[in-house]
Amino acid sequence: MSPTERMPLLRAAGLHKSFGDNEVLRGIDLTLHRGEVVVLIGPSGSGKTTVLRSLNGLETPDGGSLVVDGGVDIDFSVPVTQRQRFALRDRSAMVFQNHNLFPHFTVLQNVIEGPWRVQGRPKDEVVAEARSLLARVGLADREDARPHELSGGQQQRVGIVRALALHPDLLLFDEPTSALDPELVGEVLRVIKELADEGWSMVVVTHELSFAKEAADRVVFMDGGVVVEEGAPAQLFGAPVQERTRRFLARIM
Ligand code: ADP
Repeated sequence: MSPTERMPLLRAAGLHKSFGDNEVLRGIDLTLHRGEVVVLIGPSGSGKTTVLRSLNGLETPDGGSLVVDGGVDIDFSVPVTQRQRFALRDRSAMVFQNHNLFPHFTVLQNVIEGPWRVQGRPKDEVVAEARSLLARVGLADREDARPHELSGGQQQRVGIVRALALHPDLLLFDEPTSALDPELVGEVLRVIKELADEGWSMVVVTHELSFAKEAADRVVFMDGGVVVEEGAPAQLFGAPVQERTRRFLARIM
């Protein structure tokens, strides 16, 4: 079954967001099916991060709607309730550019904090799962390290494990490799690619076009707060239809 035949996991329609006079999102439509990998590309300032943050409730759009299969249905033209916000936040986990690990916690403490203290799951179970996830990303022997003792790539892998430990339906990656030294980018992209191959649903903002070509089911090109064009990687990179897409790709490829 191709991803587009499955139930949509998430459907955003007409998302608008302004910061003061700056209209950053001007009507974004975005659908994500279960198991689908969508890569968001576009120039800096085009609104990609604001879209991601809106999908997990870190930003509240001023207009439009967001439906997540299984219990989230928000109309942003009326005030969003705390309950809606929490319900939305529960569905996804975000991996940030700068991992945002707690510096004074060990690796293991960083991973278990959300599932144990926030979600209230039994500590033994959470610790066992954290260890197994850390082993999966090659960090079995680093659970007692503090973030500053790890390389940037290792820190980012812990950030990914911390997201997985929350058991989200959806993973959101905001430029997960852009703060890394070039030689560390590959190890992080490999982990994300493995998760994609396992069937995780994800939206990834990245400038790594080779990753988009290999891992994405669909690439969405944004510019100026709108989706200019979207399609399968081969189509979007190989035969873009819109002039704006062609100009952007010519600059970065
Ligand atoms: P991208 O991820 O494509 O680079 P962003 O979504 O980060 O774009 O930003 C789009 C625009 O929104 C930028 O002009 C940015 O300065 C502005 N912006 C983003 N977040 C805020 C905020 N919290 N307050 C004010 N302006 C913001």
